[in-house]
Amino acid sequence: MALRTLDSLGPLAGTRVIVRCDFNVPLKDGVITDDGRVRAALPTLTRLLEQGARVVACSHLGRPDGAPNPKYSLAPVAERLSELLGKPVAFATDTVGPSAQETVAALGDGEIAVVENLRFNPGETAKDEGERQAFARELAGLGDVLVSDGFGVVHRKQASVYDLAELVPSAAGLLIEKEVDVLDRLTENPERPYAVVLGGSKVSDKLGVIEHLLPRVDKLLVGGGMMFTFLAADGHKIGKSLLEADQIETVKGYVREAAERGVQLVLPVDAVMAASFSEDAEHVVAGAAQLEDTEFGADGIGLDIGPRTAETFADVIRSSRTVFWNGPMGVFELAPFAAGTKAVAQALTDVDGLSVVGGGDSAAAVRQLGFADDEFGHISTGGGASLEFLEGKKLPGLEVLGWSQ
Ligand code: ADP
Ligand code: MG
Repeated sequence: MALRTLDSLGPLAGTRVIVRCDFNVPLKDGVITDDGRVRAALPTLTRLLEQGARVVACSHLGRPDGAPNPKYSLAPVAERLSELLGKPVAFATDTVGPSAQETVAALGDGEIAVVENLRFNPGETAKDEGERQAFARELAGLGDVLVSDGFGVVHRKQASVYDLAELVPSAAGLLIEKEVDVLDRLTENPERPYAVVLGGSKVSDKLGVIEHLLPRVDKLLVGGGMMFTFLAADGHKIGKSLLEADQIETVKGYVREAAERGVQLVLPVDAVMAASFSEDAEHVVAGAAQLEDTEFGADGIGLDIGPRTAETFADVIRSSRTVFWNGPMGVFELAPFAAGTKAVAQALTDVDGLSVVGGGDSAAAVRQLGFADDEFGHISTGGGASLEFLEGKKLPGLEVLGWSQ
């Protein structure tokens, strides 16, 4: 079944429209370091404002654990949004309290407000359904309809994502519509060869993805933090690199299954080993079987794929027709360990076919490394959400909008 789209809500002039955005941007000392997610919300917000809707934008930011915390305020987002829209954006210092109610009541047609971080309220992420629904009812007081556009959270059963959508007329925004359209192309008959590149740091999260992807892909490339669990499973010593020891048997199973299914599993043949986890750490390239044979011995930490691996990965990516990439190949935030991520990003821009980058940090990485969004087929705003979509899992935040795979 298809998603309910904006048009299904009818004319929206004068209507109070709650827009569930994903403004979960990276911040450093209160400054937004990548505004990609704010930009991604613009098409929907602009469309609604042009229609004369009274827009109430809401989002989570970080993990403030259900209590107000200035560190996670959406104030910088409201400010950035105002710059991008070229118009004033009112800001409510609470989410559903007096400030939000006053701010929303003062909105005229074609005007917009941002309310404070949804996760300052325990009800947003409560496991207890009743508690979540109670918060959703408070949110429903701020608007007449809901436009759900925070793709990054559609895999979560949370008040603003799920419960609210059941309380008021709801539809998907343009961002969610686009995300679903692209990811659906990856699941339904992707053009082959189809390669998936996985990296990043959330090892156990992502290992599970492999199981679901193995039956679907032709090539699976593993870099980033999780590569070391694969190398360890292969009997290599990995020093102090990221390791999920309890996953070694699982990983061995994946390696066997890949072979049985004829999936090309491409593992790193070298890595950049560093003396410590820091920008100015001494570092050297070592072969996959010699990671502890460097001057740092067993204290070395693997912080990037090595140059031979980067070259192989780039070749495999360039010769594929469909590529999905989630998770940086190394600690790209530290310049000396960004080369692997850069090589993979570069190769994705050369793909003759569909290339998709998924994941908050991956998206931030390609922008930080100087790539433009339009060099890729699509940059997904949701890491976990895009992975779960590809795994074929049911995503509550999409199902509630009418979607089923
Ligand atoms: P995404 O947000 O794109 O889904 P993740 O959150 O899983 O990606 O992972 C991103 C993080 O992974 C980055 O902060 C990066 O520094 C880290 N990372 C990549 N490779 C390594 C590694 N070898 N060791 C430790 N951290 C790593
Ligand atoms: Mg991340």
